[in-house]
Amino acid sequence: MKPLLIQNGRIIDPGQKRDEPGSLLIAGGKIAWAGWGKESPPETDYDVIDAEGLVVCPGFIDLHCHLRQPGFEGRETIATGTRAAARGGFTTVCCMPNTEPPLDNKATVEFVKDTAAAEGIIRVLTIGCVSRGRMGEELAEMGALAAAGVIGFSDDGEPVKNSPLMRRALEYSRYCKLPVIDHCEDTDLSRGGQMNEGEISAGLGLQGTPNAAEDIIVARDLLLSELTGGWVHIAHTTTEGAVELIRRAKAKGIQVTAEVTPHHLTLTEKMVKSHGTSAKVNPPLRTEQDVKALIQGLNDNTIDIIATDHAPHTEAEKRQPFELAPFGISGFETALASLMGLVHRKDISLVNLINKLTAAPAKIIDKSCGGLGTLATGSTADVTILDPNREWTVDTGEFASKGKNTPLDGDRLKGKVMATIYGGNIVYKDESIK
Ligand SMILES: [Zn+2]
Repeated sequence: MKPLLIQNGRIIDPGQKRDEPGSLLIAGGKIAWAGWGKESPPETDYDVIDAEGLVVCPGFIDLHCHLRQPGFEGRETIATGTRAAARGGFTTVCCMPNTEPPLDNKATVEFVKDTAAAEGIIRVLTIGCVSRGRMGEELAEMGALAAAGVIGFSDDGEPVKNSPLMRRALEYSRYCKLPVIDHCEDTDLSRGGQMNEGEISAGLGLQGTPNAAEDIIVARDLLLSELTGGWVHIAHTTTEGAVELIRRAKAKGIQVTAEVTPHHLTLTEKMVKSHGTSAKVNPPLRTEQDVKALIQGLNDNTIDIIATDHAPHTEAEKRQPFELAPFGISGFETALASLMGLVHRKDISLVNLINKLTAAPAKIIDKSCGGLGTLATGSTADVTILDPNREWTVDTGEFASKGKNTPLDGDRLKGKVMATIYGGNIVYKDESIK
């Protein structure tokens, strides 16, 4: 394969604190050379992508997604999920263990890794269960899972309800230096909850989930992290209260990291009224005030990263009455474009947005899979090229994901992934890129 020159782009590499015009040469699956300004590469025989007017950055890393295989292949498979992720600019995704069987043992983790190697088109990393069978009763074999290469532990979809069990998981986390990725929900308080609790839920006659259902478990697990010295990673943060709790915990030196999803950063509970089950997600879309707090948290680094929580479902599942439809939004293919709305409104800088999708998540998975999220010479050539100003209309008919469940279908968005390069290979390319 010929080397590939990506020339005259705006290179944004937050890990190296670079944001300047330049070119990259990819050879042998690595970043072989980087030139700044109009510098030309040493060799002459290569293919060229002209990135004039485009942004060139490290491939995106998603710490939280659901690929549904094994067990729920009607919703998504590793083959379709990785293609959808590539279309969204992702070169690494970490899949949650709430499959059937769940990823609570080495053999199932190996199955996902082997399937990803055979059928996937980007890097798939795995997250192991905290508890055996995700039952919340006894710890999974965390040591065997760590040895199998999981990047962290989570019973996502459910919290770890049992406080002593969470304590032991965090003790193990301190020992193995991998995060416990925490789905924070007091399920007694949220029982029957269909959306955010407030005037809109009351008006729709739907049972609501109060912010406190999230805040209570965030507070508990920050205390348990303080007690044990273990690393807690707060998944899909959605409330103003949780942001404030995490902010205070960080100031105190508690070992916590946190993520927020594109939908919680850009949409509110009002979407449920206009879009029905496609806006049904857990934790629920919250209020304007919560969204503001999340953006603030992202900007002051209380929230470390953006993760999609890509959660595909079949059309039949989402077509059910609201109370019966499952929670989740198919997020890979709209993530960047929806987040670019925040950049265009100047709520967050483009450099910080890219940081939250590249260098920052790379740091979290560094122990299990180091060296990602950078364009440094010699590193793996995972590269995303995007056009910040390209407008396009979301058409779920064109999704690679089996999950067409998004409230953004038909929306006009500004900002588009133009090409995704994984390990030096082009895994997605917009038709306008030659
Ligand atoms: Zn969750």
